[in-house]
Amino acid sequence: MAVTPPPASEIAIVLVAAGKGVRAGGPIPKQYAPLLGRPLLAHTIKALSALKAPIQPVIGPGDAALFETVLAALPADLRTLCRTPVIGGDTRQASVLKGLEALSGAPPNIVLIHDGARCHPAADLLARAVEAARAHGAAIPGLTVSDTIKQIDTQGFVAQTPERATLRAVQTPQSFTYSLILTAHLNAAERKIENLTDDGAVAEWAGHKVHLFPGDANNLKVTEASDFAKMERLMSADLTDIRTGQGYDVHAFGPGDHVWLGGVKIPHTAALIGHSDADVLLHALTDAILGALADGDIGSHFPPSDPQWKGAASDQFLRYAVSLVGKRGGKIAHLDGTLICEAPKVGPHREAIRVRIAEICDLPLHRVAIKATTSEGLGFTGRREGIAAMALATLRLPE
Ligand code: MG
Repeated sequence: MAVTPPPASEIAIVLVAAGKGVRAGGPIPKQYAPLLGRPLLAHTIKALSALKAPIQPVIGPGDAALFETVLAALPADLRTLCRTPVIGGDTRQASVLKGLEALSGAPPNIVLIHDGARCHPAADLLARAVEAARAHGAAIPGLTVSDTIKQIDTQGFVAQTPERATLRAVQTPQSFTYSLILTAHLNAAERKIENLTDDGAVAEWAGHKVHLFPGDANNLKVTEASDFAKMERLMSADLTDIRTGQGYDVHAFGPGDHVWLGGVKIPHTAALIGHSDADVLLHALTDAILGALADGDIGSHFPPSDPQWKGAASDQFLRYAVSLVGKRGGKIAHLDGTLICEAPKVGPHREAIRVRIAEICDLPLHRVAIKATTSEGLGFTGRREGIAAMALATLRLPE
């Protein structure tokens, strides 16, 4: 029986993310390191999704589980744009060829080839890339250089000073007619030409004229550890939708010998009663974040009727709310929680609670405030019938 190939789309993107990223110095390849609460590569995919074109990821051998963390950090509609990743080769050039070949079952007319470490390609840069490939068959984005560039010899002496006006620093996405660049890559591989560092050079080697279109100075390649901080600052400038959410929770005392407050186990003459571990502070914080996202409440995401949450550790509820902020491309500016009870005494545990919440939310400590008060013997907290908690979350989201 004949197999019908999937319908080809007009445009596809090869996302090159097979590098080991040792220069960033982290424990995992840099494209998986966190930036504003989600893996770098998740930001790249989010930015590329502006084209609504299928994305063919090329990843390193052994990186499949890391790539799953990228997908998990993306909303469902973006996940569906990603094709199953293919494993890259020994060089960038070999990895790109694998990505191009993976598209051959449903060849697009135009292909963009983009480095995963450039996580902030603007939508208008992507549009320029598509337009340039349509007009010229082979096109790359370039920036004029402000530094004078020297060519040096093997002894470290200047061999030549090229005319600065003729130089361009080249970025990705580079864009091509699919058949042109696939053929050029196949021919280069066959002739054992193996270390061309960008696809423009592959097209050039194959004898094509390569057009240069304007790049974008903010389309930085995140390479060094310090680039992460630079990129966070750059991308935070887009987070202009400032939201505050409120959370409130109460749990009653019952028999037991400890309570969970802010993810810390505290010995007490009673326990808090609830379907989960009854961590009143983590529940209030979770609701505060959901409130700022205008995305329901803890009960709508984790129904108490669901047996899987019976006795559950509440850090997972808070972690989930934090992951929703990441999926929206936002960040938590500040969390502020208040515990209201006569006993146990919170003071001795306050700092441990703060540290634990910062850890759960992957926030620096200075973005978490925890306070405690009694209600001067008044009301249900004053009568030692239970503990109440209030929380505020301030988020920064993209518009
Ligand atoms: Mg609760």
